[in-house]
Amino acid sequence: METALTDSHAHLSYVLEQQGQVAMDAIIKTYSAQGSEAFIMDIGVDYDDFPNRKALFGAFPFVKLSAGIWPDQDSLQSQKHIEERVNELKNWAKDASCLAIGECGLDYHWMNGSQKAQELLFRAQADLALKLGKALIVHSRDAHPETLAVVKSYAVSIPVIIHCFSYNEEACLDYLSCGCYISFAGNLTYKNAAPLRAACSKVPLNRLLLETDSPYMNPEPLRGKPSSPLDIKRNYEIAAGLKACNIEKLVYIVKNNFKDILNL
Ligand SMILES: [Zn+2]
Repeated sequence: METALTDSHAHLSYVLEQQGQVAMDAIIKTYSAQGSEAFIMDIGVDYDDFPNRKALFGAFPFVKLSAGIWPDQDSLQSQKHIEERVNELKNWAKDASCLAIGECGLDYHWMNGSQKAQELLFRAQADLALKLGKALIVHSRDAHPETLAVVKSYAVSIPVIIHCFSYNEEACLDYLSCGCYISFAGNLTYKNAAPLRAACSKVPLNRLLLETDSPYMNPEPLRGKPSSPLDIKRNYEIAAGLKACNIEKLVYIVKNNFKDILNL
């Protein structure tokens, strides 16, 4: 039987869509058997995806839900459009079962909209998280200084998670020094990811999270294949090695970080 370990960032509705109910049932069975020892954070990406995700997964005690808007082309059409969508997101964000806001942030790799529009959408959601006192889950790609400039002022008040961390050690220290949590995905295991491993080795255990970002980022040796939370163990093994920490201790610490962040 597979092991259920805390996964701070997964897209269960995509896993279900791509891998089917049988794969989903395996996740449910494995995580349910762990009682409250392992959790999965199911992440929102669009202003209106929360009710469907809540209907699908909200009844499982091991699933925790966020609501957020990824910086996609459709959401970034105009300032008015951004404001309307964030307004709609507020309805779901207030739901008692929505424990965090995101994923949201800056993606200058895909560069939808403009930098200005991306920042507007990002800050509006960070403000929402602050107002509601919920954690903020941040996506950042090729936009380190700009992301840092935004998260600085929030991480002093609410938990801020830099998800699928993909920069180097120096950037990692920048986020840590302003109080962020750092979450590493399966790319931590990739051959060319020495900078990520160097960064991970610098993250204090009380700021460390691990995730699959499933169905993406499958850890080696299954890189390129669709992932599910059941693939996370290889990520824990690499991180345990980097932190010179036994895996049982790491599992316990990551679970407790997750619970602290979400007030569980
Ligand atoms: Zn994601």
